[in-house]
Amino acid sequence: MCGIAGYIGNQQAAPIVLDGLSRLEYRGYDSAGIAVFDGERIRMAKAAGRLSVLEKLTDSGRALPGFCGIGHTRWATHGCPSDENAHPHMNQENTIAVVHNGIIENYRKLRAKLEKKGYVFSSETDTEVLAHMLTEYYRGDPVEAIEKVLHRVEGSYALGIMFLDHPHHIYAARRDSPLIVGVCGEGKFIASDVPALLEHTRTVYYMENEEIATLSDEHIRFYSIDGELLSKEPVTVEWDVSAAQKDGYAHFMLKEIYEQPKALRDTIFPRLKGDRIDLEDLGLSEEEIRRLSRITIVACGSAWHAGVTGKYVLEELARIPVETDLASEYRYRNPICEPDSLVIVVSQSGETADSLAALRDAKARGSRVLAIVNVVGSSIAREADSVFYTNAGPEISVATTKAYSCQLAAFYLLAAKFALVRGTIDEARAKELLSSLKKLPDQVQELLSAPDELSFLANRYLAADHVFFMGRGIDYAVSLEGSLKLKEISYIHSEAYAAGELKHGTISLMEEGTPVIAVATSDRIYPKTLSNIVEVKTRGASVLALTTPDHRDLSQVADHVLFVPKTDPLFMGSLSIVSLQLLAYYVSLGRGLDVDKPRNLAKSVTVE
Ligand code: GLU
Repeated sequence: MCGIAGYIGNQQAAPIVLDGLSRLEYRGYDSAGIAVFDGERIRMAKAAGRLSVLEKLTDSGRALPGFCGIGHTRWATHGCPSDENAHPHMNQENTIAVVHNGIIENYRKLRAKLEKKGYVFSSETDTEVLAHMLTEYYRGDPVEAIEKVLHRVEGSYALGIMFLDHPHHIYAARRDSPLIVGVCGEGKFIASDVPALLEHTRTVYYMENEEIATLSDEHIRFYSIDGELLSKEPVTVEWDVSAAQKDGYAHFMLKEIYEQPKALRDTIFPRLKGDRIDLEDLGLSEEEIRRLSRITIVACGSAWHAGVTGKYVLEELARIPVETDLASEYRYRNPICEPDSLVIVVSQSGETADSLAALRDAKARGSRVLAIVNVVGSSIAREADSVFYTNAGPEISVATTKAYSCQLAAFYLLAAKFALVRGTIDEARAKELLSSLKKLPDQVQELLSAPDELSFLANRYLAADHVFFMGRGIDYAVSLEGSLKLKEISYIHSEAYAAGELKHGTISLMEEGTPVIAVATSDRIYPKTLSNIVEVKTRGASVLALTTPDHRDLSQVADHVLFVPKTDPLFMGSLSIVSLQLLAYYVSLGRGLDVDKPRNLAKSVTVE
């Protein structure tokens, strides 16, 4: 998920690799490491913390002389940020070094097999299995060994690999995690992103999924995962550095919106073992799940909104009473923690001050705490009894998008698993839910392929003073998040209402042209929301409605209708929110605001 840089050529490799990694620092990372062939052996240095720690450790690279090296900045997904878990990972003989971005989903099974064969692991990462597997399959031809390994791993990877037997070579491979190869007079490069090489070259080869590359002093070659030699043309990168950091997107927020299919895949798929949901690492026994008497979800901001959806989904499927509380309220309200209850704390950064305080309070009252967190090794992750990591990858834009989407996915997985264990759904329903979950990333992708309508619709809101969102059930939960997205980056006053609640006061604000965004995707309560839309229309509101293609009749009532594809009704929020995120983005853009860094806001709220 984070940074890879590698170099082979006629210059010292370490300073070039360290410089490349520093160009990728904006992505966020928690540790860094480098391996260089010094003419005799592969030497490695790695350390938790900033790149400056590694620079100090290696005297800015001077302590690792050599012309061929690979480096990595890690954004931990498996195992806390530590020196041992930092990349590169090497085999026991120190003859193979690997850096990896992504997640090896079946690493537990692979690790168990390797351990049985006597391989000794020195880290908690998923990545280390690759170093040992390469050893297992290596018979003198690195490409052949890499092919064999890649055929056996599930998940995503961008890889940089060195073999001591082939000292002037770098091997690279990718699946669902970007990797490029660059070339210029002074040498050849691998990198996970363009900024790492811009200093040296603009001539790059984009690697495609399941391709392997070999870089040596003489050549660059590309192979398919089946060993077939491929021909590839280099392209010239025109980007300036800041555009490159954003992968060509105008803002990190837009980039992160577009990263949602991958983020969802990385969060959902590692949890699926065949047609089972695997939550074993959470340490909740089936007996404990069956005994659960209550769940309290505690969070702030968007994570709290994810928790509102979590309540609907958990109650509906697992039939456990759920309350969703704001961490800043929970921590000061003397909450009741019954035995057999579970507190779920949700936070992207894992450092949110109020959520951390709520976690400590819940633990002190004897509650078991499960954290849904994005940043591995963060305070909330460390202090919770168990952690469900969302694998959204580093999120830079202050307004969360992909992390929120992954929090929703975490709740879906928890709810489906709890429901099956408690017998509140049968196998057939569980299968149906799983099949919908598996399709979600592609459906989000589909939604993202047509942003033009939203950019056009955004124009309607550029001069608005107020916007009202409304919906019922899951549609209400997503309205809360859509409204926050809009207000935090556009500075337009915006509020979300449970649609049935409007007439208890707020409807008095409806007048000619008042902008209302109505989310009406739920078939079960569609007629009710439709009535509420008619109520505000009658009072002059200008309504943009979101619904599924089943409800084309809405076009006769609303001023504009946006259609979102259908999924299980419980998962609809994951699709509706994408349109609302894009809408907020385009409104902020249209108003000329700082989309990624809205005023007065911080990414990680570490104060009360
Ligand atoms: N899954 C790997 C780890 O946790 C790689 C993380 C990354 O992409 O930085 O070490």
